[in-house]
Amino acid sequence: MVAADGARSPLRDLAGIAVSERDTGHVGLVTTVRVAAPHGEVARQAFLPGGPLAFLPLAMDGDEQHCSIVWSTSPAEAERLAGLERKALGEALAAAIDHRLGEVTVLDEAVGFPLVQRHAERYTLPGFALVGDAAHGIHPLAGQGVNLGLMDAAVLAEELLAARQRGVMLGDERVLARYARRRRGDNAGMLALMDGFRLLFGARHPALSLARNLGMSGVDRLVPLKRLLLQQATGQRGRLPASCR
Ligand SMILES: Cc1cc2nc3c(=O)[nH]c(=O)nc-3n(C[C@H](O)[C@H](O)[C@H](O)COP(=O)(O)OP(=O)(O)OC[C@H]3O[C@@H](n4cnc5c(N)ncnc54)[C@H](O)[C@@H]3O)c2cc1C
Repeated sequence: MVAADGARSPLRDLAGIAVSERDTGHVGLVTTVRVAAPHGEVARQAFLPGGPLAFLPLAMDGDEQHCSIVWSTSPAEAERLAGLERKALGEALAAAIDHRLGEVTVLDEAVGFPLVQRHAERYTLPGFALVGDAAHGIHPLAGQGVNLGLMDAAVLAEELLAARQRGVMLGDERVLARYARRRRGDNAGMLALMDGFRLLFGARHPALSLARNLGMSGVDRLVPLKRLLLQQATGQRGRLPASCR
């Protein structure tokens, strides 16, 4: 049985697998907008003092330019933003991204989701495996949630296919443990990285703010480091399953 039933996985609970949870202190406010300037199929993120704001381009027929918005901020600020008239929210969004995409028209109701980082204490039991958000939930600031889940699925499939070729039972604990070994460390690393980014970008202490500013401009200037981070985030590093290479 493969449990791919999301962050509140009922199957994980039925299997009695504990999960560590940490509230990030952020709510992710989500809506869809039309932007006046071409987004060029580029995802943009503004690191605001209250938390990151992402404009994620949506594929559309025709000339209209739509984006999905994820604005991570404090619960109180998210509630305030969600309570704004659509016109005022559009203006706030346009200003928050320095008007780089021109006028912003809000098309949907803005809905907030509490952002909780989660990690299951184990990924497998005999005959049972967790994948995706059932295994781990990550702050959306780097847009990695879906990638991590796809990677879990690909690695699990690779290990199950290899087991079948060796004539081993698919639910065998050792087969599933290979999957867990290959994924748990990577996912834990990404969760820790997102925590670090969130703390760094949310910091109000002047020394941390300075470190953040130096750090980001530093990363921007250091092409090899930037390439390394990009490769990590896009899954081009590490021992990838064949289907992800
Ligand atoms: C505000 C916010 C913004 C995000 N932004 C991004 C982003 O920009 N990029 C990104 O990559 N990720 C983002 N994520 C994370 C991303 O949404 C998740 O990582 C991803 O959806 C996890 O996929 P999943 O299939 O594991 O779980 P889910 O997408 O949660 O799917 C689980 C499915 O299982 C179903 N299910 C549950 N119980 C049962 C049952 N008993 N029987 C049948 N079906 C059941 C559910 O209905 C659901 O359809 C964001 C998350 C949030 C909350």
